[in-house]
Amino acid sequence: MRQPAGAASAVDGPCVARPPPAPAPPPPPQQHPHPEPDAASLAFCRRLPKVELHAHLNGCIRPSTLRELAAGVVDAKELEGLEFKPHRDLPAVFKMFDVIRRVATSHEAAERIAFEGVEDFAADGCALLELRTTPKNLPERGMTKASYVAAVLRGVAAAEAALRERAAAASDGCAAAANGAESGSTSGGGGSSGGGGGGGGGEGAAAEGAAAEEAAAEAAAAEEAAAAPMLVRLILSIDRREDAEAATETVALAERLRAQGAPIAGVDLCGDPSAGRWPSWAPALLRARASGLRVTLHAAEVPAAEEFGAMLALGPDRLGHCCCLTEELEARLWESRIPVELCLSSNVATRSVPSLLEHHFRAFLGRRHPVALCTDDCGVFATTLSREYALAAAAFGLDEEALTDLAAAAAEHAFVSDAERAALRARFAAFRVERAAGRARHQ
Ligand SMILES: [Zn+2]
Repeated sequence: MRQPAGAASAVDGPCVARPPPAPAPPPPPQQHPHPEPDAASLAFCRRLPKVELHAHLNGCIRPSTLRELAAGVVDAKELEGLEFKPHRDLPAVFKMFDVIRRVATSHEAAERIAFEGVEDFAADGCALLELRTTPKNLPERGMTKASYVAAVLRGVAAAEAALRERAAAASDGCAAAANGAESGSTSGGGGSSGGGGGGGGGEGAAAEGAAAEEAAAEAAAAEEAAAAPMLVRLILSIDRREDAEAATETVALAERLRAQGAPIAGVDLCGDPSAGRWPSWAPALLRARASGLRVTLHAAEVPAAEEFGAMLALGPDRLGHCCCLTEELEARLWESRIPVELCLSSNVATRSVPSLLEHHFRAFLGRRHPVALCTDDCGVFATTLSREYALAAAAFGLDEEALTDLAAAAAEHAFVSDAERAALRARFAAFRVERAAGRARHQ
């Protein structure tokens, strides 16, 4: 989302109206403008492996953590209304951003928010998390951009270690249970197996045995893929309020950390969409591209045709939001095939779109433009990636197959290596096998 320096930047007025393109179906008139997901759909979306490509670290903060960090720092009255609830309104959203900005100013806070953010996305069933954060220079807190990112990376690494430990313990438990079941079935089932063999065998039995073996191998692969720990990558953001020197400092930090083996995937441009000018950051972004870092840009959060044209000319790997496009710019975006990170709840809450039903996700879907559903700031908007998928299902009539396709497609736009993308594809393939097996059992 546009991350404002103050409330003034938040209410930039409605975006230009966009007529839906011909292939996109119009919203059913009888539907509520903000449909809610049903429980079954939400449960499916929680099981679905998901790929989060647009999540701001500070925006992921747990409300409980925010209250804890704010205690004694922020007036108790200001903290009222920060409880976790859906449909947080615009004043509450900006109150949260303001409080986060004031309390997330220490290395300890950055490490904790990163740790909890990774845990929360893993608990929501994500297969990949690309977390983004703006490196901060706070000399009064003894914080440099490098020391801030080091703290975030410590939090990510600690959470990953905890997840691996939990996965190993769960796997040991499963293995013990399977061994127990196997020894039980060997003593009881050996005779029956022998009896079957004595019955003549033949081609039918051999084929049945091969099919069973194949099914068992597929089930094992599915289990292995599902148990794979969540992959985490960090994207370093350039704040639009930063000048050319500060932007270059962030890109240089990303290059240095990546060379040292840190899980840095790329750089982002974010912040108050009315702040700064494109020529300030363009050299840093070009440098990032030249050094092999992937680039994503918050784009067209407010009408800014000239800047959007410059962004397209840079050829970023992805764009975020793209709420406020003229028909002409929309056509250029579709022609570019640049994947777009779309954040339903965020855009509705900040009034970048008039309603969920009128979100440009519908038009992009109709055009088959590559998109990835994302949360933006799940702590602030009281959502999860599962909920965003379930919202899309409710608003745009997506069935389970379409939701699975949507999640799998997001993996194609991730800033990961070929081997990591192959592992993500395997995870989705395993999920489809599991679903098919589940359906077969219920028939
Ligand atoms: Zn954002």
